[in-house]
Amino acid sequence: MSFALEQQMVLLHCANCGVPFAITTDLENRRRNDHANFWCPNGHTNAFKGETETERLARQLKYAQSARDDYRDRLDRKTRQHNAAKGQITKLRNRINSPSHPTDDGDGS
Ligand SMILES: [Zn+2]
Repeated sequence: MSFALEQQMVLLHCANCGVPFAITTDLENRRRNDHANFWCPNGHTNAFKGETETERLARQLKYAQSARDDYRDRLDRKTRQHNAAKGQITKLRNRINSPSHPTDDGDGS
């Protein structure tokens, strides 16, 4: 019995002994994403520890969201301070403009 099999493989070199060996592209993708161990033909443990593109983008997104939240908090704080200052100005303006407020344009002294 015989059969033909076409399989995409990727050539790797053991990080420890340097022996070349091949794994399927599917296994390579899974190991790059899950960072799990795999072994060279000589039994050395290998793993893809580098950050994947998805992980890098997720990390950048998280950073951007955190920065956005910080800016939003700062904006809220500044808006509250601005509104409080406006309230104080209005309060003082109303006090100055009230009829009971003494003015210097009267008889002086
Ligand atoms: Zn090895």
